[in-house]
Amino acid sequence: MSEIFEMRRPDDFHLHLREARMLNVVSSYLRPFGRALVMPNTNPPILDAGNVRRYRNNILKASHPYSFEPLMTIQIVEGTRPGTVFEAKEAGAVAGKVYPRGMTTNSENGVLNYRAIYPALEAMQKCGMRACFHGESPDPDVFCLDRETRFLKILKEIAHVFPGLKIVLEHVTTAKAVECVTELPGNVAATITVHHLFLTLDDVVGGKLHPHHFCKPVAKRPEDRAALREAAMSGNPKFFFGSDSAPHLRQDKECASGCAGVFTVPVALSLLVEFFERYGTLNRLEDFCSSFGAEPSGLSATSGWCRRHTTASSRSARARKLPGGWNNPRAFSLGAGHKIGAIFLRFLRLGGSRPCSRLRYPIKTFEISKIDLVE
Ligand SMILES: [Zn+2]
Repeated sequence: MSEIFEMRRPDDFHLHLREARMLNVVSSYLRPFGRALVMPNTNPPILDAGNVRRYRNNILKASHPYSFEPLMTIQIVEGTRPGTVFEAKEAGAVAGKVYPRGMTTNSENGVLNYRAIYPALEAMQKCGMRACFHGESPDPDVFCLDRETRFLKILKEIAHVFPGLKIVLEHVTTAKAVECVTELPGNVAATITVHHLFLTLDDVVGGKLHPHHFCKPVAKRPEDRAALREAAMSGNPKFFFGSDSAPHLRQDKECASGCAGVFTVPVALSLLVEFFERYGTLNRLEDFCSSFGAEPSGLSATSGWCRRHTTASSRSARARKLPGGWNNPRAFSLGAGHKIGAIFLRFLRLGGSRPCSRLRYPIKTFEISKIDLVE
């Protein structure tokens, strides 16, 4: 018996593509995605219209010949002028990204005083640009597990001052953030990553340190993960997919002072399909990935479809293939001896593990769907 699952080609509303050689390698995994909101915390950062045009051209070159549309962003810093926002919008940027200072990769120029960016937020409200927040308090005295919750006060104030601003709280990790976004008016939404649907803090530091599961905001408690899962599968249009796939060189992850970021884009869609299917909510996946994020921005649905064709024999073939396939992608080569850090290995490992066994469906039963693009 065979089954076909088909969905509209998805969007990824939070993606790190990096630059240069890493951009070229990461772009080769974008094929299932029609569009992605590309994060601006490159080195150097994307701060104005000129940067947006240059970076967009580089992405299009790297993703050629796939039909992929990068949705561009600029980073909003305390010195961003309203004129810079309007020019960036003119150059094709659809969103501004706000980082808390020093809290994640390349955020040394991030925001400490949120009122200092009000002129930029006002300009974004005026021209219909989305404001995306890495929602953690920039106060280094706030305990790391409390930073997202402490940011919610800032979020509420911004939502109150700018009722016409389209606000996205990125990569939510706590039940409190889910509750807050649910209760705030319709202009406030949130993205959910694939790794936060799977991980808790146990998977990062509960046993031996697992640097490839370390990201910001760090995965939290099982009850927080349960709230994220419920929100992702709820059919509430305030919650949509943003992978926050964030590659780093392997030596920058596996070292004494490792970088934050989980590189998921090669397996993100496959994992989502398997995940929603396990919970009997596959009929909600297309909204989560392909429409809830696009509609409020006035973006039309992506063209093209993704298809998974499953037969009983292909299922068992995939399961058998895991140990030699995705189970051991120790790293992705960048050439010249450089490699991107291995991904998500425990998710894909056959045999299970202690933290995973707490899931309703043990991770060991998850497969990697082969998703084909239907042009
Ligand atoms: Zn990110």
